[in-house]
Amino acid sequence: MNTGKAQNAKEVILLDSKAQQTELEWISSPPGGWEEISGLDENYTPIRTYQVCQVMEPNQNNWLRTSWIEKGDAQRIFVELKFTLRDCNSLPGVVGTCKETFNLYYQETDSEVGRNIRENQYVKIDTIAADESFTQGDLGERKMKLNTEVRIIGPLSRRGFYLAFQDVGACIALVSVKVYYKKCWSIIENLATFPDTVTGSEFSSLVEVEGMCVSDAEEEADNAPKMHCSAEGEWLVPIGKCICKAGFHQKGDACEPCGRGFYKSSSQDLQCSRCPAHSYNDREGLWRCDCEDGYYRAHSDPPSVACTRPPSAPQNLVYNINQTTVSLEWSPPADMGGRNDVTYRIMCRRCSWEPEECVPCGGNVGYSPQQAELVDTYVNVVDLLAHANYTFEVEAVNGVSDLSRTQRLFAAVSVATSQAAPSQVSEVIRERVQQRSVQLSWQEPEQPNGVITEYEIKYYEKDQKDRIYSTVKSRSTSATVNNLKPSTAYVFQIRAFTTAGYGTYGPRLEITTKEEASASTIVSSEQNPVIIIAVVAVAGTIILVFMVFGFIIGRRHCGYSKADQEGDEELYFQCTKTYIDPETYEDPNRAVHQFAKELDASCIKIERVIGAGEFGEVCSGRMKLPGKRDTSVAIKTLKVGYSEKQRRDFLCEASIMGQFDHPNVVHLEGVVTRGKPVMIVIEYMENGSLDAFLRVRTFQFVLCCVQKHDGQFTVIQLVGMLRGIAAGMRYLSDMGYVHRDLAARNILVNSNLVCKVSDFGLSRVIDDDPEAVYTTTGGKIPVRWTAMEAIQYRKFTSASDVWSYGIVMWEVMSYGERPYWDMSNQDVIKAIEEGYRLPAPMDCPPGLHQLMLDCWQKDRADRPKFDQIVGILDKMIRNPNTLKTPLGTCTRPISPLLDQSTPDFTTFRSVGEWLEAIKMERYQDNFTAEGYSSLESVARMSIEDVMSLGITLVGHQKKIMSNIQTMRAQMLNLHGTGIQV
Ligand code: AMP
Repeated sequence: MNTGKAQNAKEVILLDSKAQQTELEWISSPPGGWEEISGLDENYTPIRTYQVCQVMEPNQNNWLRTSWIEKGDAQRIFVELKFTLRDCNSLPGVVGTCKETFNLYYQETDSEVGRNIRENQYVKIDTIAADESFTQGDLGERKMKLNTEVRIIGPLSRRGFYLAFQDVGACIALVSVKVYYKKCWSIIENLATFPDTVTGSEFSSLVEVEGMCVSDAEEEADNAPKMHCSAEGEWLVPIGKCICKAGFHQKGDACEPCGRGFYKSSSQDLQCSRCPAHSYNDREGLWRCDCEDGYYRAHSDPPSVACTRPPSAPQNLVYNINQTTVSLEWSPPADMGGRNDVTYRIMCRRCSWEPEECVPCGGNVGYSPQQAELVDTYVNVVDLLAHANYTFEVEAVNGVSDLSRTQRLFAAVSVATSQAAPSQVSEVIRERVQQRSVQLSWQEPEQPNGVITEYEIKYYEKDQKDRIYSTVKSRSTSATVNNLKPSTAYVFQIRAFTTAGYGTYGPRLEITTKEEASASTIVSSEQNPVIIIAVVAVAGTIILVFMVFGFIIGRRHCGYSKADQEGDEELYFQCTKTYIDPETYEDPNRAVHQFAKELDASCIKIERVIGAGEFGEVCSGRMKLPGKRDTSVAIKTLKVGYSEKQRRDFLCEASIMGQFDHPNVVHLEGVVTRGKPVMIVIEYMENGSLDAFLRVRTFQFVLCCVQKHDGQFTVIQLVGMLRGIAAGMRYLSDMGYVHRDLAARNILVNSNLVCKVSDFGLSRVIDDDPEAVYTTTGGKIPVRWTAMEAIQYRKFTSASDVWSYGIVMWEVMSYGERPYWDMSNQDVIKAIEEGYRLPAPMDCPPGLHQLMLDCWQKDRADRPKFDQIVGILDKMIRNPNTLKTPLGTCTRPISPLLDQSTPDFTTFRSVGEWLEAIKMERYQDNFTAEGYSSLESVARMSIEDVMSLGITLVGHQKKIMSNIQTMRAQMLNLHGTGIQV
């Protein structure tokens, strides 16, 4: 048995007769057949051979059996025979008996069997013949030729086998017998070791073999090394591979450790790399290098990056205090520590006046944008206590700051806050709920920031459409709200007041009043008329008291009055809420979200563009809120590429509009600030702005009804519109809001002709008004609509809004005519200063013109209040007779107002002088040519007469006609004569 490896061969030899020098002792049967003979091979090496040459005798059957061959791992066995065979022709006298072949057999057994050869137990492998028996020698002699034949047997299933050679009468010398099988020898391929592998049993089979990674190597992910051993003992088809582990690199078929000062962080890397900056290593085979002292590597830093250190302190820390808000700003540190992930964190401490005694500020303080991980170099710290001392430390941190044990480096400032409004009243308790009253109590706000002098309780009916607020004030932390309706849900909110102003309202508290007294109570009252009378009398008295009370305290300003309530509460009734200037908010976003609902952009569908605003397009569209009906809305959009200031100014309008809730003030639905475009969503006003609406109507009217002298709206309709505008303005002025830009172009009209005041904002309202021009006082002012004192010294008040309202009246009654026609702004200012006032528009009821003139009183105290204006208009609507225009004109009685405000036409001596005064002198010739040479003849002119003069400009026609009407009225009043037109 030979299981050793043959050098340079893929064969494992099981038997080699040549290798054995001693006797082979194979079994030969019968005696006289095969004989073992010693000889020399071609290299004169002694060998053992078997020979047989019984060619003379017939019927030869000589068997030779090898020793038992253990097959080992082999499945397929190769048998190589070397032999010589004499051809019969070379032997004289052997004809008939001489053979030239022999047969090869084998027998499988699990162990050696006896020495008897049982022929029938052998399986024939082949009949072996010589290729050639003799070869020609160099000298022409015949030489015996050594034949080599190889036969394969298998698959074998027993532990071993015998080979047998049957001679049937040939002359053979069996020079050598070699038995072997083939193997794929162990190799290393792709850093994987493949073991010795015996070939498969079939000629075509490939044996798959898994490789084992060499030391310090690992299998590549999902790519285990494999090879295939072929039947020929060759390795074929390598798949997958091993790679050197982190800290090792490949050298030949092995992995070697990285040297000192080098590292390899991953098996994926091919080479070891030199340690990055500020790192080192003094051992071999490392996957990363250690950081030098004072340098660190963040958890997320790969081993390939340099070690870094915390940044130095921020520089140039400055602060700014606004009440209880502190703004801090600083410059980046001089040394960023070698990293680019520097952020900042703020440490806030409140200190007693002794600087050593500081405590962390805690969670009540707010930071905008945030307290830590600040990317920008500023922060606003809000909700600090008023009149308190604070220390702020600003620390620059980077990815390795938390790893460092060195001392923190920061910039610090100490600041003291000033006065501030109180914080929210958040804990409200319903003490007692009755049919018509609710008693509430609450806790003082957490941060009163001063002495709270009063609380304001705002309430409204939850389901009320117009949502008109009422307020009640109290000096203590409780109040009873009376005069409520039974079984009605109310919403209450409370805010505190100190000398620093109002705090913000606390959360909404919804309370439903108790049900009305039961039927039995009513029945019993009915049965007892005395009770009813008493109740009615008491109720009447209370109402009367309230009315008188209400009258005394007025609408806008709420004064205290000891009431018959429990405790020391002091109550007001029907006080309107107060307008809060969004500019007073440190963070404009807060103002927007306090007053405007944030809408989900997906609820808004923009349909078409309907106008252009200063900040972007105005569109119409639909809004569908969850659980609500789809409604038409107008959407003001903020154009792309806006600046932060533009965004603020744009949303400022929403912050203002959101505070209003009145049927004659355009209603804000909400805002979209968390998406793009930024949008303000407003109720949709189908007829657009009032001035354009009126002009279009006029134009339609002129086209179709030029012969008819009545406007297309009745006077009552026009007065109704004016009444609406006045009511909206009354509401705004009650809230303390001054519009500054009241004009027909800023009134919107819906499909029911309801007029609503719109266009809110701060200074920008004026900026975006094309009518606004710069005045000598510096601001931009829509001169034609603005009161004298506002033009002259920017005194904008509700009284100056009343002046503008008078101009709107004029615009409405003249169907959108431009006030003062085409006079220049300078001329308008001069004329107003000299007492000139717009004459009554055509067909304008005198009472209305009178009201306009009252609005244009020089002394603002003499002007009516919006409240009174609404009253006057209401009276007119109730008595339409007062709106009749005598003789189809607008006459006005002589009044002190007239004397100061309207030029006296009786002072003009000629038509020329008059035309000059009204800046229409260019038409002097037209008048003369048509024979209008006296003022009396002019006073009789109709609109057709004016048009027939060849004056084509409608504005000029109207201006002249208005002045003729005023002239006519003056003459009427002077002479008491009717002039027929
Ligand atoms: P504004 O930016 O307010 O000056 O709006 C520009 C124009 O858009 C106005 O003149 C109106 O024609 C139109 N508009 C503004 N708001 C509305 C609205 N709520 N409903 C209908 N049209 C509007």
